[in-house]
Amino acid sequence: MKPRQMIIALLVGTLSGLLVNALAADAAWVTWVVNNVSTVIGQLFIRLLFVLVVPLLFSALVMGIAELDLKDLGKLGGRTLAYTVVVSIIAVSVGLVLVNVLQPGAGADPNIRTMAGASGIKAAPQPMDTSAAGVILSMVPENAVKAAANGDMIGIIVVAFIFGIALTRTRTAAARQLQGVMEGIYDVTMTCINGVMRLAPIGVGALLFSMTARVGGGPLKQVVAYVGVVMLGLAFHCFVVYSILLRTVGRTNPITFFRGARLAMITAFSTASSTATLPTALLVAEHQLKIPRGVSRFVLTVGATMNQNGTALFEGVTVLFLAQLYGVQLAFGQQALVMFICVLAGIGTAGVPAASLPVIAMILGMFKIPPEGLGFILGFDRLLDMSRTTLNVTGDLVAAVCVARGAQEEPSAPAPRDD
Ligand code: ASP
Repeated sequence: MKPRQMIIALLVGTLSGLLVNALAADAAWVTWVVNNVSTVIGQLFIRLLFVLVVPLLFSALVMGIAELDLKDLGKLGGRTLAYTVVVSIIAVSVGLVLVNVLQPGAGADPNIRTMAGASGIKAAPQPMDTSAAGVILSMVPENAVKAAANGDMIGIIVVAFIFGIALTRTRTAAARQLQGVMEGIYDVTMTCINGVMRLAPIGVGALLFSMTARVGGGPLKQVVAYVGVVMLGLAFHCFVVYSILLRTVGRTNPITFFRGARLAMITAFSTASSTATLPTALLVAEHQLKIPRGVSRFVLTVGATMNQNGTALFEGVTVLFLAQLYGVQLAFGQQALVMFICVLAGIGTAGVPAASLPVIAMILGMFKIPPEGLGFILGFDRLLDMSRTTLNVTGDLVAAVCVARGAQEEPSAPAPRDD
């Protein structure tokens, strides 16, 4: 599957959906086609990717750890975490500066609150336990199989981590065989993924058609401004912040990087899921960007769930936008707190479509901003989700480049494969 086919699919799906929306948005046949054809095809594509995620995530992480020695693992983990925290802070700051300067939520109709109440969101989801103890406890699952079945990615990562470390420390023949089995699971899953990716243009076209054929209506001026601010922030972080990081930390030409990362970026855009894009990101890192496997498997697997710069930026902008919309004043200290929470939320939000929404509802509740405000943005969430996921995945690849460069400069590090 070539990137050109994917771009054609993107354009055909989007434009035909827009045309149908403009000419016959309310027709029964349109609803039928969207519900029974394009949505089904799009969802099948996403499910085929999802079904491969648990074996892939687990085997890739175990292999990633088992191929490093423990000294490297500590350094790699520490570097990845430090990178994630610093770059997430930059991402949220970009969003908060833009939303404060451009004020997309200012000047809203005072009746807006009533309209939000009528928009379908009834109540905020149950807030999760946000105490330090609660967060730490929730990271370690009680049951590894249940964590996998429930899509608890952080749980799977923790189990894979423990398992991988134990595998490197178990020096028996059987343990080496098990390592071979893990490698086998990884290889077979990747073969499946290559097969699924052949279907990607059809899946992508169908997903985009479903979305654009449905979206319609005259959106509020503020919501359009908000969407513009989110997109601007994501684009700035992607092309300016990442280019600087790639040049200074990764010592890589940003144009070469973006050219190589294209396939992963388009897959992220069309699936709106970092986790579903993980297989493609791993392929791209290895074949296009030539990042050493030990580093890319580790950074990308952990990053798909934890390094979500787009999500952190989006959550910050959304919280402040809704505060502006409802006239809730947030002082500098409170905005700093929003930033802190969004950095943590970016780390804790799952890499699946719309995973940000319950997290935002929780943050809104914390700052006494009406959570019904989410009703305004839901109509646009798919587009924003696709865009923020693209930044999330690009950010993981940038992280892998930067961390690999750091590892390469370590005298004891495994030698990277090229440059
Ligand atoms: N869809 C995003 C991702 O998978 C998560 C989110 O922000 O909703 O990366």
